[in-house]
Amino acid sequence: MAKIENNLEIIQTQIKQAKLRVNASQQVNIIAVTKEVDVARTQEAIEAGLIHLGENRPEGLENKRQAIDATVSWHYIGSLQTRKVKQVIDQIDYLHSLDRLSLAEEIEKRATKTVKCFVQVNVSGEESKHGLTKEQTLAFVKQLEQFSKIEVVGLMTMAPFTEDETKIREVFKQLKQLQQQVSELSISNVPCTELSMGMSNDYELAVEEGATFVRIGTALVG
Ligand SMILES: *Cc1c(COP(=O)(O)O)cnc(C)c1O
Repeated sequence: MAKIENNLEIIQTQIKQAKLRVNASQQVNIIAVTKEVDVARTQEAIEAGLIHLGENRPEGLENKRQAIDATVSWHYIGSLQTRKVKQVIDQIDYLHSLDRLSLAEEIEKRATKTVKCFVQVNVSGEESKHGLTKEQTLAFVKQLEQFSKIEVVGLMTMAPFTEDETKIREVFKQLKQLQQQVSELSISNVPCTELSMGMSNDYELAVEEGATFVRIGTALVG
C-alpha cells in the first residue's frame, strides 16, 4: 500500500492543476473516505493532515469514533435509514445524503445540535442511485425552513457509471446550476453554497466544475 502522505500530495497537485486549467478559486476540501479501511489506516490519514473523514455505515462510524480522539469532522456519506438516525446523528458533523422529508423529520426530533446537510440529488437519473430529481430538490428545500436542526450547506451527487467524461461533466455542471438556484431562494437555513461531488475517478472534473468537497477513498487510503 502506498503511503497516504504520498497519495495526498498527488491529489493536492491534481486539484491545484484542475483549478488552474479553469481559473477556479474555490477552496476544495478533501474528505478521506475511510469506509473500507481500518482504524490504523484512518490514523495514518489524520497524521497526513486530513481533517475530514467519511463513513457510510453506522458501525464503521462508531468504530472509528471510539478509537480516534483527534479533532476531525465526521461526514456520513451513505444513505441513512430513518431508524438509524438516533444512533448516528449526534456523532457526525455533516450528512451528505439528505433525500426525504421523513429523514429530515427524524433528524429534527433526534439531533441535539444543528447538522450540516447536503441534499443528495440524482442528477443522472440512474435508477440505481439515491437522491431527488432536480425538480424535487427545489420543492424539498422549501419544506425545510421549519427545521431548526438542519442547515442545508450544499448539494451532493454521484456521477453516472460511465467512462464518458462529457456525460460526467454535464452532471457536475447541472448540480452547480441547481445549487445556485437553491441558494437564490434565500431560505435562512439553506445557504447552499457547497458542492459535494467527485470521487477517486472523477474528482479532477468535479473540481473544474466547482466542487468544494471531494470524497476520495481508493486513490487516497485504498
Ligand atoms: C465509497 C464512496 C466514495 C469514495 O469512492 P472512491 O471511488 O473509493 O473514491 C465517495 N462517495 C460515496 C458516496 C461513497 O460511497
